[in-house]
Amino acid sequence: MTSGFGRVRPVEEKKLDENGADGIPARGPVATLRRIAFLMERQREETRRIEAFRNAARTILPLPEEEVRRRAEEGTLTELTGIGPSTAAVITDACRGIVPERLVKLEATSGPLAAGGEDLRALLRGDLHSHSDWSDGGSPLEEMAMTAMELGHDYLVLTDHSPRLRVANGLSAERLARQLGVVDAVNEHLGGSFTLLKGIEVDILDDGSLDQTPEMLGRLDVRVASVHSKLRMDSAPMTRRMIGAVRDPHTNVLGHCTGRLVTGGRGTRPQSEFDARAVFTACAEEGVAVEINSRPERRDPPTRLLELARDLGCLFSIDSDAHAPGQLDMLDHGAARATEAGIDPDRIVNTWERDRLLAWASSRL
Ligand SMILES: [Zn+2]
Ligand SMILES: [Zn+2]
Repeated sequence: MTSGFGRVRPVEEKKLDENGADGIPARGPVATLRRIAFLMERQREETRRIEAFRNAARTILPLPEEEVRRRAEEGTLTELTGIGPSTAAVITDACRGIVPERLVKLEATSGPLAAGGEDLRALLRGDLHSHSDWSDGGSPLEEMAMTAMELGHDYLVLTDHSPRLRVANGLSAERLARQLGVVDAVNEHLGGSFTLLKGIEVDILDDGSLDQTPEMLGRLDVRVASVHSKLRMDSAPMTRRMIGAVRDPHTNVLGHCTGRLVTGGRGTRPQSEFDARAVFTACAEEGVAVEINSRPERRDPPTRLLELARDLGCLFSIDSDAHAPGQLDMLDHGAARATEAGIDPDRIVNTWERDRLLAWASSRL
């Protein structure tokens, strides 16, 4: 486990709390580094800068507390691989029970990421779309699970990419099978109240089939199907392609349906062209959820399509599509959009408790 919680003992916590700045609880060094990384990620700061904090947390996690304290006092933390001057300063403050200035500033940004969706956000029990470093995410799957727990989720579906998405290090059937074993081990360790669910973000191939073997798809709890290639295909074949995927009984969620990018480091990209009425009608008939992708650079589907899917009776799933732990908090954006569109919370599958969700996800198999 790469988490830092549980390392601060109650006695120490009391001592630290007295020194907390502006009501911010002082934490141990690992928890402080993780909190800084989390808050930077939800603000969409640059991944490389954030990784410095996560790497430093990983470096000191296995060390005895006494050694970390001694090195902090002697100024020798930077001798350790993965710790530089700024992370050493954070660790030193944390060892002394001081909330680092950097964290004080970040905590000021820790409120909801979007206004208007707070009530719906509070109803969300989990997240159906997330990535780990098994594909193109930045963190180990157990770190994603830990952060989802800290956010109060009951479940997180791990949905790394499928084989054909080579740029994202998509998982072959063999690697996926191995990942499922790791997920089982993590769940045993977590012990019951939270579940890391088995999933995939499976590519929708040109002919509408799914990019993973039916045998492997059948072993998963939840399957998100998305278009990642040939986004500029003509409307008629794109419509056939998407409906083909929606009709596949393995598909539970239609991921970021238009593929558009509205802002962000990867630039912008127009939405794919397809007959949205036909695709959403198929979703409604099959009980496939239309994803409300919460990433600010996607805002997918656009409002007009979101309202069309609402009027056609579709189910929805508000997903973070997180590629790093802090991005799991982006559900705020999707919740605000769903609220604005007046979508009934009971039609949003991740307001459901885990067993209802699992029954729905396997209902066509
Ligand atoms: Zn995707
Ligand atoms: Zn994704």
